[in-house]
Amino acid sequence: MLDATGAAQALSEIGYLLRQDPKEKFRAQAFSSASWAIALERYDLEALRKDGRLDVIPGVGAGIAKVLTELLETGTSRYLDRLREQTGQPRRDDESSIDLSHYRGDIHSHTKWSDGRATMLDMARAAQKLGYRYLGITDHSPRIKVVNGLGPERLAAQAKELAEVQSELPDLALLQGIEVDILEDGSLDLPDAVLELLDVVIASPHVKLRQEAPAMTERMMRAVSNPHVDVIGHPTGRRPGSREGASYDVELVFKAAAKNGVALEIDCDPARMDLSPEHARLAAECGCLFSLDADAHAPPEFAYVPMAAWMAERAGIPEGRILNFLELDELTAALR
Ligand SMILES: [Zn+2]
Ligand SMILES: [Zn+2]
Repeated sequence: MLDATGAAQALSEIGYLLRQDPKEKFRAQAFSSASWAIALERYDLEALRKDGRLDVIPGVGAGIAKVLTELLETGTSRYLDRLREQTGQPRRDDESSIDLSHYRGDIHSHTKWSDGRATMLDMARAAQKLGYRYLGITDHSPRIKVVNGLGPERLAAQAKELAEVQSELPDLALLQGIEVDILEDGSLDLPDAVLELLDVVIASPHVKLRQEAPAMTERMMRAVSNPHVDVIGHPTGRRPGSREGASYDVELVFKAAAKNGVALEIDCDPARMDLSPEHARLAAECGCLFSLDADAHAPPEFAYVPMAAWMAERAGIPEGRILNFLELDELTAALR
């Protein structure tokens, strides 16, 4: 029996595959919104199907209701299978199977300290409600002014708030981190002395993504070689359907990441899906570790993880290679 998460993932994958075709932009968005609504609200889909009321779900019209009905009745979708064939991504035998009840926490999230839309307390409460054991608070670094990034002083102030929030939520471990910008030359937007105080360091490319491939390769190689970096966030900066993302020698960078124990993020935001399933498969073959994060800027966005976990499955990545499936003590050891 396909549960709400399984249905959400199938609709999310359809939305993703449709995004490859600019003409299908709106249909793609409809599938993604329906997926998000289902992942968030965990509807009793079977009851809605029996009553012919699947269209009470936001974003679900006749077309999506038909796909959902087939998914619920057969566990598969001919429409999804056809899209996979058409986009050259047929189902493969070596896909993995991920049980999200083993997912222990998200390590990439934002709060009002930078460009998030909720307070740290609200984000932490939402994570605890989902049963998470830990949450990484990783706001932006100072470089990008529009997101109100944090320098050393504001990070120190944030640490105080984090301690207060932590005392209210004893069952959830808050990890103080940063999403630090990878600058043009591959150096990071905060000094080592600051980075080494943090529990988790996610280094992400945000600007100047159109650098020539050799320079971009050098930039990313430098980032994965920094001993303070734990994770490379959304490794290409792409936006499926609208922005291609940085191009560089991914194999060289992924191999260096594997060697240095730096994880590559699968950013589950439907607007990002970065790594892509193809890059995730290459990274898996290079021996990389992964993190599977929502990059949430508000509590409802935590549902991006159950929507997008199919990417890791299609890439054949087992749970054991994904940081978020570690228990807290194992995670803190992995983050050094
Ligand atoms: Zn980012
Ligand atoms: Zn982020």
